[in-house]
Amino acid sequence: MTSSAAIETPAKHRSSDLRYASVETYSSVARTVDILSDAWGFLVLRECFFGVRRFDHFRAVLRVPRITLAERLAKFLELDLLSESPLDGRHEYRLTGRGRDLYQTILALLAFGDEWLARGVPPPLRLLHLRCGCECHPRVACSHCKESIDPRRIHYRDGPGAGVEIRTEPRQRSRRTATVNILKRVRPCSVARTLQIIGDRWSFLILREFFYGVRRFDEFQGRLSIATNILTDRLSRLCAEGVVERMPYQDRPARYEYVLTAKGRDLYGSMLVMMHWGDKWLAGGKPPLKLRHRDCGQDVHAIVVCDRCGQELDAHGMSYATSYSLHGRAFTAGSQ
Ligand SMILES: [Zn+2]
Ligand SMILES: [Zn+2]
Repeated sequence: MTSSAAIETPAKHRSSDLRYASVETYSSVARTVDILSDAWGFLVLRECFFGVRRFDHFRAVLRVPRITLAERLAKFLELDLLSESPLDGRHEYRLTGRGRDLYQTILALLAFGDEWLARGVPPPLRLLHLRCGCECHPRVACSHCKESIDPRRIHYRDGPGAGVEIRTEPRQRSRRTATVNILKRVRPCSVARTLQIIGDRWSFLILREFFYGVRRFDEFQGRLSIATNILTDRLSRLCAEGVVERMPYQDRPARYEYVLTAKGRDLYGSMLVMMHWGDKWLAGGKPPLKLRHRDCGQDVHAIVVCDRCGQELDAHGMSYATSYSLHGRAFTAGSQ
């Protein structure tokens, strides 16, 4: 069975109304990606999980321009991902419950980067699961049966928050090059590597359409109202990354379609974890999509579990060690 046949597209997503650039289906994944796809924003959040709390400390570890950092911190305070409290006359920034809840999203992106993008080098970050005492590789699983999630075994239907929204800001602008250059800075990170693939908005939207079963150039164009040159560029990048393959489906005249590779299908888990975070915190209690896992027959969401003991992972139950070399220098660090 092919993936496109197995994934049933909800009615709202088939609508021809989607042919207008200003109209986009509600999507909790897109809302989450909007937060994470800003490269500086993601790096600031990542350092929060490593315990960075002070403005000067963020500046020192990220070498981020003062105004850029101030803008990102202000945005995260507004989004209620961070809270601010004065300490010794200076401000300290801490993750809120909503911010800390992004931990599983970051672990899912990290697991993908470790699995597919490490290029034979040991992962820069090693995780120890304190609850079972084992070195742990996070795995995306079904919230009900705890089995790994295969996109071909998920059925979608419209949820209470389904519909389309009118986007008022232009989203044709491409920030891809700047994003990738920023993400390569500072230190090697499997999450940053994954975001280099899905972190720009167009690549992400194209990948999302793949999971709805879209395969052909014209179809992507019609559904996303994306300019031909941008679509060509993103599809060839996704092919070069090994996430998508171009396959002939007709000889005369020659016609091609695009299909996800095993690596591409593996991105699905990260997207479902992002979707759950968006559903929980940004959808006002009304998820735009509901998922049913065919293997267990239940309405489910994605969770991230320890591959050794199968328990759900949270920031309190983990310790980490980093070990990598950058510009010829070796770095090691760890947490208690
Ligand atoms: Zn299940
Ligand atoms: Zn464990």
